[in-house]
Amino acid sequence: MSADDPVVSMRDIDVHFQDDGGVNPFADPETVRAVDGVDLDIPENDVVAIVGESGSGKTTLGKAAVGLQQPTGGTVSFRGQDIWTAKKRFSNPSIPYSEIRRSLQIIHQDPGSSLNPHQTVEASLAAPLKKYESELGPEDREARILAMLERVGMTPPHDYAQRYPHQLSGGEKQRVALIRALLMNPDLILADEAVSALDVSLRVEVMDLMLDLQEQFDTSFLFISHDLSNARYLAEHADGRLGVMYLGELVELGDAEEVLRNPQHPYTKVLKWATPSLSPDEGAAEPPVREIDIPDPVDPPSGCRFHTRCPYATEHCKEATPEQHSIGAAAHQASCFRLDDGSDYWRSDPLEGASLDADER
Ligand code: SF4
Repeated sequence: MSADDPVVSMRDIDVHFQDDGGVNPFADPETVRAVDGVDLDIPENDVVAIVGESGSGKTTLGKAAVGLQQPTGGTVSFRGQDIWTAKKRFSNPSIPYSEIRRSLQIIHQDPGSSLNPHQTVEASLAAPLKKYESELGPEDREARILAMLERVGMTPPHDYAQRYPHQLSGGEKQRVALIRALLMNPDLILADEAVSALDVSLRVEVMDLMLDLQEQFDTSFLFISHDLSNARYLAEHADGRLGVMYLGELVELGDAEEVLRNPQHPYTKVLKWATPSLSPDEGAAEPPVREIDIPDPVDPPSGCRFHTRCPYATEHCKEATPEQHSIGAAAHQASCFRLDDGSDYWRSDPLEGASLDADER
């Protein structure tokens, strides 16, 4: 372990599931390639927002980052220690697995599901403190919980501490979930669609609270969302990064403001087009895709997985897989042959309905 090690480092991560055919016992099992070959480092005090359509693998990638989903390929390390090796008995890790678990927390989309309906807020918040900070006495625990309730605006805290989940609004439940994660003094919090279930007016309030707490606690955040405007709000306000996933692959990653100002992957342009607040002039135009439908993740397209929809796709895109290319000086990268002047892409025939010179839409 070195001081420069990222909090979490993912290398060449694959997460493939066997789909056994559901109700049909005679169906051959199929492999769902939920995540394929993803590299991602999350340094100290970093905010990364990952965005993508349903089935893009973003939640699976997030769970792999915090050790809740074991990859079928590649490695996930916490401060240089392989998480899944640390979990093995007799592995003698440099960081004990219990310490890794404490350091990597998650907030779910539905905070209600992670709160015990029969426990008061105080009891729910005391449980992890008892486990991970057993030296704290009951009074210190209570003081810590009340201070956190006050910090997130749940006042008077004594009143909120005695409430049950059904006596809380959706936004208040999400605040309790946030406190519960922060009481562990984590190094990284995975916020998986954490504001999607909230009313629009509450979303900004909860995201502002996350940003505030992220700064106060110096915690890194991995924010997963299907909604580009939420991902953008959080990543831009935190001066963080934005990643775009498509059918299991991380197709673009970089400084949030830069990715949105100058998207390089044709799919990022689609997401931007589909978010009217980001492209007010383009909202009425045709979407910049040849096909609206997303291919089946069980049988993703060959070559570049976006070739069935991409307005710039050529025969080469069907056959070869593009690698990540860096763009400019900033750590901005995207995987598209158009970023490589020497690629055979430029000598290949466009697919039906596509054009190498398709206008920027
Ligand atoms: Fe489109 Fe080809 Fe680039 Fe893929 S590699 S995004 S199909 S141009």
